Amino acid sequence: MSALLPTYARSELAFARGEGAYLFTASGDRYLDFASGVAVTALGHAHPHLVKTLNDQAKKLWHVSNLHVIPEQERLAERLCDATFAERVFFANSGAEAVECSIKAARRYHYKNGASERYRLITFEGAFHGRTLATIAAGGQQKHLEGFGPPVDGFDRVAGFDIEVVKAAIGETTAGVLIEPIMGEGGMREVSGRFLQDLRALCDREGILLILDEVQTGIGRTGRLYAHEWAGIAPDIMATAKGLGGGFPIGACLTTEAVGSAMTAGSHGSTFGGNPLAMAVGNAVLDVVLEDGFLENVAQMGLRLKQRLAALKDEHADVIEEVRGQGLMLGLKSKVPNTKLLEALRAGNLLTVQAGDNVVRLLPPLIVGEAEIDLACETIDAACVVLKRDAVATT
Ligand SMILES: *Cc1c(COP(=O)(O)O)cnc(C)c1O
Repeated sequence: MSALLPTYARSELAFARGEGAYLFTASGDRYLDFASGVAVTALGHAHPHLVKTLNDQAKKLWHVSNLHVIPEQERLAERLCDATFAERVFFANSGAEAVECSIKAARRYHYKNGASERYRLITFEGAFHGRTLATIAAGGQQKHLEGFGPPVDGFDRVAGFDIEVVKAAIGETTAGVLIEPIMGEGGMREVSGRFLQDLRALCDREGILLILDEVQTGIGRTGRLYAHEWAGIAPDIMATAKGLGGGFPIGACLTTEAVGSAMTAGSHGSTFGGNPLAMAVGNAVLDVVLEDGFLENVAQMGLRLKQRLAALKDEHADVIEEVRGQGLMLGLKSKVPNTKLLEALRAGNLLTVQAGDNVVRLLPPLIVGEAEIDLACETIDAACVVLKRDAVATT
């Protein structure tokens, strides 16, 4: 029996090392990693620039607390601001913390502007924002809330992506709208650019804030640095994490000056957030992701993979119902239970991630090449054949 809390349904697999898009078990079995630690290892495993940066930093300084200036933190914040809508950044250690800070910042903005009654956020059915008490309330999923007492107050959930429904949900206590540009855990459900544009306009009209959870969609995952860029809009607040550290735990809340300036000294904090190790690695991730042509290549590889998957869907329509997502954040809506498809892929040494709505997520590292995409598609093809054969055998 494991000494760990039984909070995860784990596979039997354990990995000893990784290299690029591949993971290796202790006995040397090779797996193609289209999970990336759930969209975290953006540059694959053991990327030389990240390894060198972390080693160099480890010899110099690990941690000093936010009681002092951390130059690498200032630098990463400036670079994130230069590359996005943002004017201010708060560093945390995880996605949930980044969203938590976003929720607090939204409330604090209205408080500072004399509207402390505006503390509620409109959220969307099927969303996922993390596992803290506030973020499970924001996500509003029963399976995450069950047994943990009264949900944190302040979230009004709406169904679907209908601007009239959102409009009707806005009241005198509404502080803003919180949404993921693509629902990752929720089943790779894409939000249209048009809906994001409508939300932006609605928030402006109502004097409320648009908050994006780009924890999974961010850092190039969709072929732009942040997914909302495809819609040509900017949020007031954005949570980012996962890919930003390339495997080192980092989260960040990005805001406009108007929002960020409301978070005055003492209003929020984190012991580990923005420490020198994390910041060195975050800067190293940006060195690569912001290189000329890197994001264009992600978009191109994403398109290639999506086209191949669409062809596989046509060929195996009894296993794959739909291909979803954008860039290298793709999903297969399965006709068989998604766990069955995921296990068949794993049996073919391809790692993927389960999602809601009976979807299997494909989240390759952003450095993935054509050969790996071809290998993944061959494995999916073979798995579909096996699943069909099994289905025939049992009927
Ligand atoms: C993963 C995720 C989170 C939570 O991140 P943690 O690092 O697990 O706390 C929040 N929002 C979205 C959209 C995510 O995908």
